Amino acid sequence: MTEVFTKPFIRQEPIPESAITAAVEVMRSGALHRYGAEPSQVAALEIEFAAQTGAAHALAVASGGYAMGCALRALGVGPGDPVLTNGWTLAPVPGAIAAVGARPVLVEVGRDLCIELDDLEAKAPQANVLMLSHMRGHIADMPRLMAICDAHDIAVIEDCAHTMSADWDGHPSGRWGAIGCYSCQTYKHVNSGEGGLIVTDDADLAAKMILLSGSYMLYARNGTAPSEEVFARHKGAMPNVSGRMDELRAAILRPQLADLPAQVARWNERYRALETGFRNLPGLHVIDRPASEGYVGSSIQLLADDPEKIPGFIAGCAARGVDWKWFGHATAQGFTSSHHHWAYVEAQSLPQTDAVLARLLDMRVPLTFDLADCAIIARIVAEEAAESLR
Ligand SMILES: *Cc1c(COP(=O)(O)O)cnc(C)c1O
Repeated sequence: MTEVFTKPFIRQEPIPESAITAAVEVMRSGALHRYGAEPSQVAALEIEFAAQTGAAHALAVASGGYAMGCALRALGVGPGDPVLTNGWTLAPVPGAIAAVGARPVLVEVGRDLCIELDDLEAKAPQANVLMLSHMRGHIADMPRLMAICDAHDIAVIEDCAHTMSADWDGHPSGRWGAIGCYSCQTYKHVNSGEGGLIVTDDADLAAKMILLSGSYMLYARNGTAPSEEVFARHKGAMPNVSGRMDELRAAILRPQLADLPAQVARWNERYRALETGFRNLPGLHVIDRPASEGYVGSSIQLLADDPEKIPGFIAGCAARGVDWKWFGHATAQGFTSSHHHWAYVEAQSLPQTDAVLARLLDMRVPLTFDLADCAIIARIVAEEAAESLR
């Protein structure tokens, strides 16, 4: 009998009961606006997230995409400015750059799925800002990356949508560059439906981002606000681009952030079970994780030898309930797109990235799967690989 997997790949775990209780309290109070609530859940979330990441300042906002746009604005990026970014990432990243009128300069991605540092070095003279996307949680050699950027006076914004709680050599992702941006959207590491977090050690950048996010004159109520003296330098100069987080989302997120280390351990158990099952299959390669990388295995990627055989392999797996995303499609599919689909970005030649994307398979690792589920998935993938990739 052919084994079939029946669980959905897009089901989340329920919101923790303590978060639901806190959310109900917020609703009973009617005080859903962060600047109307005393005490504020959003301000408390900012204090807790700053402590968790070791940052001087944190700001809670409406989405991960908003966080990146806010970071770009705070760094003074405007119309026509070049911004370096990964040639492979999710659409909100080039979207955030395009939204401020700036021009994405795409950097090649290697077989390790990280930004390619030789290409970054070659393109470094072209821009003053790098929007670094730790796409699918793969972290580049951060000391070398920062050395390249420091040598060229490039400010680094980290897109940590897939690396909340990850690190390189023990130093948290999001804390290497000038600004770290996180998403709290349902498919990331914490779930408030929509939401974003920003961290920085720079008081001026923090003040600018708080003002940008729409603090009216109440910025002192932010959880980790810089001093009045710092705000005085930027008040009036920053446009109000409203993108605040509300009390309900912060109430839901605080218990989840406290649970995150335990959740990361659960993700990595599942990731390792899948990785072991996927190793040494015909025509497929797992991505070896560097020893310095403290990753969160919330998704797993494989590279196939022969792009021509991928559609048949995906169809074989899908017929048995196992979902792969493929980055080699001619058109954007769901969350999966490539730089060729971003018509708002000037077309750029990325032969190395294209060769990787043509072979790249991607799978979510939901926490609603247990280790037995991972074993079933591994068996099905092994059988289908033997069938169509040999
Ligand atoms: C989800 C995501 C974002 C942005 O998050 P939103 O909260 O959906 O705006 C940014 N970068 C990457 C790589 C993402 O996957």
